[in-house]
Amino acid sequence: MLLGISGALCAQVKEFKESPFLYPVSTVILDAGHGGHDPGALIRFSDYAGEELLEKEIVLDITKQVAQLLRQWYPDLQVILTRNSDDFLSLQQRADIAARTNPGVGASSIFISIHANSSNASDASGVEFLVKRADKRVRFLVHDVDTWTIMRYANHTVDELNQLLNRANILLASQLEQRFLEQFPTVRNRGIKEQDIWVLNAGKVPSVLIEIGFLSNPEDAQNMQNPDWRSQVAHAIARGIADSLNPGSSAFFPE
Ligand SMILES: [Zn+2]
Repeated sequence: MLLGISGALCAQVKEFKESPFLYPVSTVILDAGHGGHDPGALIRFSDYAGEELLEKEIVLDITKQVAQLLRQWYPDLQVILTRNSDDFLSLQQRADIAARTNPGVGASSIFISIHANSSNASDASGVEFLVKRADKRVRFLVHDVDTWTIMRYANHTVDELNQLLNRANILLASQLEQRFLEQFPTVRNRGIKEQDIWVLNAGKVPSVLIEIGFLSNPEDAQNMQNPDWRSQVAHAIARGIADSLNPGSSAFFPE
């Protein structure tokens, strides 16, 4: 008997041990949005003929910096980028990388997609953290899954897996949100939102899409041009991811 630990905490510990989404993270999949012929959001500067700020370039730069920090902090961590250059990948290809990468027995993967937002309203600004809709039912065992996937999910019903995945998504989003607010205390935080987004539904691992700011907002766009700001965003995301890693695996939060 565990003296002094409440029943609720015991239940949480039990869930932690049983959820295939809360095993120690061995694999981080970083997804820079858009790429190639798909620039994502963009703005053109009226002052400089033809000069553009493209979402695909901003998010690739930040994603590479996140990867570099994680590899430096956690040499044993498997860090995978869905794209490492200006390539176009379909949403299916991105989700397949998340779904088909075997994190190893007793370990798990997480998927972080990095985007910049845009709106017709130029006063829309700030950061938001998107997770799949809780009522979106993911099917884990489809006809062509790999054997490791069957071993991984066989002990749970589809409903249990969806519930556990939803909780893991919120946990991951909260960790990223917390680190972001720590780095940028005055940022407009639009919070954690559920959205029906293809890459969040299809990856089958805890997944969060971060919208780092609005290219359509002059102040946010100015930040996105600033290399220091981008580096701070990368640090905030990397720290949020580090919160999800097994704390015993390496030195925690090195600078
Ligand atoms: Zn985008």
